[in-house]
Amino acid sequence: MSTKPQTIAQFFKRFPNDEACLQHLFDVRFGQGFECPRCERESKWFRIKAERAFSCQWCGHHLHPTVGTPFEKSRTSLQSWFYAIFLFTTTRNGVAAKELERQLGVTYKTAWRMADLIRKHMADVDGDKPIGGIGKVVEADETFIGGEARGKGSGFKKNKTIVFGMLERDGDVVTEVVRNRGVNSLVPQVLRHVERGSEVHTDELGTYGYLKIEGYRHHSVNHSAGEHVRGHVGVNGIEGFWAQLKRSISGTHIHVSGKHLWKYAKEAEYRFNRRNRPETMFDELVHSFGPLPQQSD
Ligand SMILES: [Zn+2]
Repeated sequence: MSTKPQTIAQFFKRFPNDEACLQHLFDVRFGQGFECPRCERESKWFRIKAERAFSCQWCGHHLHPTVGTPFEKSRTSLQSWFYAIFLFTTTRNGVAAKELERQLGVTYKTAWRMADLIRKHMADVDGDKPIGGIGKVVEADETFIGGEARGKGSGFKKNKTIVFGMLERDGDVVTEVVRNRGVNSLVPQVLRHVERGSEVHTDELGTYGYLKIEGYRHHSVNHSAGEHVRGHVGVNGIEGFWAQLKRSISGTHIHVSGKHLWKYAKEAEYRFNRRNRPETMFDELVHSFGPLPQQSD
């Protein structure tokens, strides 16, 4: 990977215009000498000015470097997209659509859609590698976020969304939005994301008792009895992550609907999992795209 932009000035030096962004996408996804999917010869690729494409020196086949990226169906300039990603990777609490609207000079609707696609991209790049393993501790916990006030003066809120989190101690976190806190909601998520044999720490919620049956070692602390840590048993790590997620939502976004919440959780997850190397986030996001799709002429 090349130089990592740390400052706005470095960003604009590296990506001075759309052409530089398109060339970057071509270089990281194909590169000169890339074998043409149609004539199957190693080719020099020539930039076609009329569209966002490169053409095979032998048969004229076109490659479109934006296909299969978040920018594919967008008319917003690539430089604006790259800059939006830069903003996402240089803030701790996320970027509001309003802020993108102001900085990029796009409509609110466009800004919202860009932020939405960038969050999905962060979720894709973060991936779903299992956490834990023999000798590893995983903290599992759920939290309630959002919802509408149930009437004037009422402290209660309805329609809250439940986010379930699993954090390998000193490692990665995984989040999932779940329907409830029952066995059928939480245990399959642990099975999906946490290696069997891990030592799972939770609070006293009864659901977690089933983890032993599924092949996990399980320890809990009794929050309702005021117990938060017992020896090395506790869920302080995942609670720290919840605090960060909630700060980002209430501080930057004010309100997030239940339908979209998973993406904000994934954004926080992406950032948290790179907490020891935040300077690599921008490069990772502009280098990592899905498998190359079929290209048309
Ligand atoms: Zn060709």
